[in-house]
Amino acid sequence: MFGTPLSESDPQMEALINRDVERQRTHVQLIASENFVSRAVMQASGSVLTNKYSEGYPGKRYYEGCEIVDEIESLAIERAKALFGAEHANVQAHSGAQANMGVYYGLLKPGDKILGMRLDQGGHLTHGSPVNFSGILYDFVSYGVDPETEVVDMDQVAEIARAEHPKMIVAGYSAYSRILDWARFREIADEVGALLMVDAAHIIGLIAGRAHPDPIPHAHVVTATTHKALRGPRGGMILSTAEHAAAIDKGVFPNAQGGPLNNHIAAKAVCYAEASTHQYRAYAAQIVANAAAMAAAVAGEGVRVVSGGTDNHLFLVDLRSVDDDLTGKDAARLLSSVGITLNFNTIPFDPRPPYRASGLRIGTPAATTCGMKESEVAEVGRLLAGALRGRSDARVLEHARQRIGELAEAFPAYPPDFPGHV
Ligand SMILES: *Cc1c(COP(=O)(O)O)cnc(C)c1O
Repeated sequence: MFGTPLSESDPQMEALINRDVERQRTHVQLIASENFVSRAVMQASGSVLTNKYSEGYPGKRYYEGCEIVDEIESLAIERAKALFGAEHANVQAHSGAQANMGVYYGLLKPGDKILGMRLDQGGHLTHGSPVNFSGILYDFVSYGVDPETEVVDMDQVAEIARAEHPKMIVAGYSAYSRILDWARFREIADEVGALLMVDAAHIIGLIAGRAHPDPIPHAHVVTATTHKALRGPRGGMILSTAEHAAAIDKGVFPNAQGGPLNNHIAAKAVCYAEASTHQYRAYAAQIVANAAAMAAAVAGEGVRVVSGGTDNHLFLVDLRSVDDDLTGKDAARLLSSVGITLNFNTIPFDPRPPYRASGLRIGTPAATTCGMKESEVAEVGRLLAGALRGRSDARVLEHARQRIGELAEAFPAYPPDFPGHV
């Protein structure tokens, strides 16, 4: 029975997985937080390591039979430390949200004050949302972007930090296209006696590929995901100085989690090795070049790009420049119907609530994995803008659908016969 393949033991699930690999192959994927993993990463995450319980850390486990997972986790830690030049790495966090939870639990006490970015301007749920553990357990105060430039106002950060005396400052967001001044953030943190946590969930892949300024020398702690631009399995990770290592490890286990996902830790180790190559550096540079080319193409069609452009892998567009009545939700749905998958997003000072929003978030990591370069993503950008502008013209939409289909077919994530599972 255990040897029976999924296609025989559960054809219903096999069919659903195959439908999703088909969806992944036939649409142009522009969700800034998604990517396509290598077969090697998929094999490690789909391995028998899922069977092993190993609460604790290498050499200090609460279960027998951990000799090999000790080696696997140690290898993942060593690779992460080498790749990022960090003194300490925790690779057990199940997700980016739990990496943040582990850090807050490890370094702060409930009720402590944290200064983070406004959620409607790019901050993450775990940066103090009232419906998230972070906003429930900690006292969040926030900074934002300058209304004119739509860039983080460092003088405002300093001013609020001096007035509020937070225990921690959080920098690094989910929907922000500009480079942050890590040194200035650290200077402000030092001035008010706060810890600096950089949430690099989105940009860690660019940092690994040397395509973005490195926060690690400046921050006390850097949290990240492994599944966004970094192109690893779904998961989280934490990098820190040796000084905070023990507290952070305890914050993850036992404070926030039970046993680690050993299959995912193995897949993280595979992804760190992949991200250490020259090919990966070229990939990271191409992600950034593609985002710039696509933002320019979209702007060239008269669709306003928030802050006027991008320095990283993503950008936001302001749909009010197309039509005051066009919501992000409706625009994202329309683009999905022509084969472009992305998400709607609030923009700075958005008059609409997050569930409708006035913007779209557009990212290039996944399309770049598929081999698209500047000319292809620029064409996608023009088709996207054209579809928004001509959304009531069936011929415009049909042209976009056809051309997007051709591009997706010419730049597939996986070959046509690729199975949806290992
Ligand atoms: C994606 C993201 C996270 C959380 O990642 P999950 O793995 O979805 O929990 C945390 N912080 C930021 C800034 C993110 O963009």
